[in-house]
Formats: sequence, structure tokens, C-alpha cells
Amino acid sequence: MRQGDGSSVSLLMRQKNRPPVSPLRAPGVPSPCLPSAGAQQCVKLYVPLTHEPRTWTSRLAVVTLHSYADGTLRLYYEPRPAAPQVTTGADLAPLFAALPGLRRHRCDNGRHQSFYDEARHTEVAHLLEHVLIELLATDGGVARSQIQGATNLDEAPRRYRIRISGWDNAAQAENSVEKALLLLEDQEL
Ligand SMILES: [Zn+2]
Repeated sequence: MRQGDGSSVSLLMRQKNRPPVSPLRAPGVPSPCLPSAGAQQCVKLYVPLTHEPRTWTSRLAVVTLHSYADGTLRLYYEPRPAAPQVTTGADLAPLFAALPGLRRHRCDNGRHQSFYDEARHTEVAHLLEHVLIELLATDGGVARSQIQGATNLDEAPRRYRIRISGWDNAAQAENSVEKALLLLEDQEL
């Protein structure tokens, strides 16, 4: 199985978004209001981006990464029209063989299933979330439990939002996202 190493020339077309305004301020993530502030006094502060957003186009999706100064990564996963969006029926054995640590992932899926079981019937974007967490942990040399993730769906336009917290190295994140997308592209999804 081919595995990208971040520096290799990938099959993914890289595109750089260049926001018209300061890339370190827009679009930003509103910070949650402090409970003690009271509703009227709550001022939304915006957490700045640490890097310009990066976009990759694979056969599965167009994926954009935003890295924020509070250690949050946000990925916007827009499935390609003909690409599979769920893993049902896919052979994930090669993926679990390539990333043995995935077997130990915990997943709050509301069904008390391990991620290993959940992975067989889940959204490809959710699989990407776990693959990325595994790569960040192994390549970055940090404890897996230090990194948290969640995947949510926007219906219109249909796209998935993947939020990962506990990560503050945006350059490493870019390498890991690219590697994760290459790994998923290699699977028979
Ligand atoms: Zn999960």
C-alpha cells in the first residue's frame, strides 16, 4: 500500500485559498461565551488562524484545513458527487493494518460501539477524523488521548465539519491531512 510521507508528490491537487482580507483574521472561530459574562455582556472574540487555509482535492472529497491559534483544527469535507460517503461494504482491513493504533480508538457514537466496529458503517468523513487523529498522534509523538475530535454534517450544501482540538502544530497538521487523504484514497471504499 502506498503511504504518503508529506513530502512526496501526491496525486492530490493542492490549491491555496487566498482570502481577500488578512488570512490570519478571517474567517475565525467565535469563542464560546463565558457563563459568568451574562448574555448581554457576551462578546464574541475571534480566534485567529495560524496559517492560510489549505485545500486538497482527492477522488473522495475536497477538503479544506483551517488551523487556529487555540490548538483547534477544522476540516471541511465536501464529498465529490460520485464518491462513496459511507464505509458500508468496504474492506478496511488494509487500513487497520497500516494504522494498528486505530483499533484502540474510542468513539462516542451513542451506540456503545468501539471505533473498530463503528468504522464498518460510518461516514468516510468520520473515518478521516480518526485516521487523522491517529497520524497526528503517531507522527507528532503525542498521546492519542490528548487529541479530541468530532464530525458533524451540514445538509445544505452537504459537507462535513471535522473539528479536532488539542493540536498546535499547523505545519504538521498539513502533512498529516495529506497523508490521511492518500491513505483513504488507497482504500477500496
Ligand atoms: Zn468517532
